[in-house]
Amino acid sequence: MSMPLPQFSHETLYDDAPMVPIKQLDAVWFQVGGTICNLRCHHCFISCTPENDKFKFMPLEMCKPYLDDAKALGAKEYYFTGGEPFANPEMIDILELTVSQYGPATVLTNATVLTEEKLARLKNIAQASEHKIEIRVSLDGYTPEMNDPIRGEGTFDRAIAGTKALVQHGFQPILTITRTWDDCDEKVLEGFVSLLAGIGYAKPRLKILPSIKLGAEVDRTTGYTETDRITHDMMQNRDPAQLLCHNSRLVTDQGVWVCPILLDSPHAHMSDSLQGAMQDYPLRHSACYTCWLHGAICSNDTTSCTAPK
Ligand code: SF4
Ligand code: SF4
Repeated sequence: MSMPLPQFSHETLYDDAPMVPIKQLDAVWFQVGGTICNLRCHHCFISCTPENDKFKFMPLEMCKPYLDDAKALGAKEYYFTGGEPFANPEMIDILELTVSQYGPATVLTNATVLTEEKLARLKNIAQASEHKIEIRVSLDGYTPEMNDPIRGEGTFDRAIAGTKALVQHGFQPILTITRTWDDCDEKVLEGFVSLLAGIGYAKPRLKILPSIKLGAEVDRTTGYTETDRITHDMMQNRDPAQLLCHNSRLVTDQGVWVCPILLDSPHAHMSDSLQGAMQDYPLRHSACYTCWLHGAICSNDTTSCTAPK
């Protein structure tokens, strides 16, 4: 019996939207942390909190058939997100299975729940596997004054301690920073480079992300307006490969969604299977406008916003 899909507000759907074809499945995202997070960031576009269990942790047994399907469909890499993935008690088992049997994996974390035991296991798995493990750490300021009003009191110190521990265990985490400032990016990047040099991370990888104006971010700032939409004209001469939905899908405990950005939209649910979700998708959501402006914002690519020399 199918379950009712989670309901969500804060979005406008537009008719007659241009379609994005999916020609192949290159990457599969897993909402392993559901919408459960130890933090409650004010800009979280899927409003994760410790109490929000609209989407639940995905256990290993639930992930495995999707990994098999993804591999059969030609997926080359795997992303694990939440919520906080490392709050899922089976996250490291899922990661070990993925990099030993399927392909390279990336975990998006706030780096505040990494224990010494988890770090030691992660290091051993990374060293034993032919496939790479990437860790992305979200942090939104190079000082507590810049970060903590958005991510919560004390989160700067905890995330920096987690980042330092990752570096000491042989990882080169990608710091992802949501643009919430008025300064120029150069100044912010310099602040991060200096901060990270101080904890022994000499050549940090940094990625600045635009804010997604959904979920909690609507209350912190504003939501999208009626002009924030994609028209057919806007997709003329635009390579759809720049959009995440062109070559990837998101697996959750409640089926397959088009992308991680639209998790909270029941309209973005595509199928119960990856095979069923291999269909073209209409760019009918306001948040698609952010992708149109900024490209594949969820990829690991840091080349467009690397740290200044
Ligand atoms: S932005 Fe990330 S760390 Fe913050 S509440 Fe959302 S999922 Fe958790
Ligand atoms: S939000 Fe972005 S990735 Fe998701 S369907 Fe829209 S354009 Fe594609």
